[in-house]
Amino acid sequence: MELSILTVCYLIGSLTFIIGLKMLSNPATARKGNLIAAAGMTIAIIGTIFLYEENEKKLGNYLWIFGGIIVGGVIGTLAAKKVKMTAMPEMVSLFNGMGGACAALISIVEFNHLYSAIEIPGYDQMPFGTLLIILLGLIIGSISFSGSIIAWGKLNGSVKDFSFNGQHIFNLVILAVVVVLAGLILGGEFGDPQLIFFSILGLSLLYGVFFVMPIGGADMPVVISLLNSFTGVAAACGGFLYDNKVMLTGGILVGAAGILLTVLMCKAMNRSLKNVLIGSFGGARTTGVVAKEQGHYKEISLSDTAVIMSYASKVMIVPGYGLAVAQAQHACHELEKILEGKGVNVKYAIHPVAGRMPGHMNVLLAEADVNYEKLQEMEQANEEFSTTDVVLVLGANDVVNPAAKSDPASPIYGMPILDVELAKNIIVNKRSMKPGYAGIENDLFFRPKTSMLFGDAKKVIQDLIAEIKNL
Ligand code: NDP
Repeated sequence: MELSILTVCYLIGSLTFIIGLKMLSNPATARKGNLIAAAGMTIAIIGTIFLYEENEKKLGNYLWIFGGIIVGGVIGTLAAKKVKMTAMPEMVSLFNGMGGACAALISIVEFNHLYSAIEIPGYDQMPFGTLLIILLGLIIGSISFSGSIIAWGKLNGSVKDFSFNGQHIFNLVILAVVVVLAGLILGGEFGDPQLIFFSILGLSLLYGVFFVMPIGGADMPVVISLLNSFTGVAAACGGFLYDNKVMLTGGILVGAAGILLTVLMCKAMNRSLKNVLIGSFGGARTTGVVAKEQGHYKEISLSDTAVIMSYASKVMIVPGYGLAVAQAQHACHELEKILEGKGVNVKYAIHPVAGRMPGHMNVLLAEADVNYEKLQEMEQANEEFSTTDVVLVLGANDVVNPAAKSDPASPIYGMPILDVELAKNIIVNKRSMKPGYAGIENDLFFRPKTSMLFGDAKKVIQDLIAEIKNL
């Protein structure tokens, strides 16, 4: 009876996870989807804690279990409440690393169970299937753990890019040694299985470090998504080991979602995964680029911007990473409402990789209660620019860089961009002429239809609102 209730709990957990994921794909339902999936998982976890039985024995250890849940829950809640939107990829990376560590710990515990069993006479061979899953969980989980911690350090600036000649060969050698050692244990040819097992653990951790180290700091979001997928697969191994359906479903979904997201991000940047992993795109962004002879850019004043926008019939706002840095989403929504009050039709053009994480701009604008109907996806927006009077680019750079279409030598060549140049006027707000994520200059800023409006996005919008009100 209890087993069937537990099975129902797992079914609810799996179903709500799938439904939640589906709802996450639309900004209007994303928040609810997250809550539904979390509620389902809570049911599955509580069910496991109180209903799971092995040899007619319940789990027990409630002090440890609930102690862990409370400590982890408090840390997680505080971290999530405190984190700035721009630091979200960092937090995801850290949490993902913890998932990888858990999967690796499960493998260590279960290996020790098997290892103590082989000392009992008659058990001279560890069961191949179980051992294979344990080793997979160990290798993938520990790579994900150490790789995610390095990614986290790179994003918060405490770990610098590091590579040496032949590093990719070195990485391949470590991986090959890990595979050979795993083969030794699996083949039963072990001298000291514990020594080999923990050598595999150490080398996998090392591989995770060296795998992420040389990747350009700016490519971290893609790598984090890939590592996230690894953690999902490692968790699924735990699901196999414990014959736990919900862990298996959750792990497989995370694994599949992570790899799909990785591929989609690469596609939106028009780069192959191989290029992300062994190229160092974006790595030069902080070193500053040599300025090309670009001619002159022209500046526009706040009062002229206020006039031109107030008398426009259609304005398209292009938000980018700078909007998130400035936390200007609320001011931006206010600007939209004031312009709408003057009869201007205002919309937002959302590039799929604007910002630093998938859906970054959607989340940011949703936080400020911007109506989803106003958000135009790239293809839609590109059809509308030719009938737009003013495009206001707010802290975006690469996603409007025409070099992606015209300069085959550019690292972003081939990346689909927002064709803002089709509009009558383009006003670009940023703080300086510095490049964005890809570390390259943007010819758009020097084009005749473009005017620069320098300053922090939030301050500029607030001043612009004041100017418009005074008109
Ligand atoms: P960019 O990084 O190209 O440019 C952002 C611009 O914002 C900078 O040029 C900066 O200029 C400006 N800026 C920074 N702070 C402020 C501020 N306070 N006020 C005003 N402006 C500011 O951003 P985009 O959104 O255009 O492009 C995103 C890039 O990130 C793409 O190259 C994409 O491939 C990449 N990427 C995106 C991922 C995603 O999932 N979204 C994942 C991985 C990479 P200045 O310093 O002069 O102010």
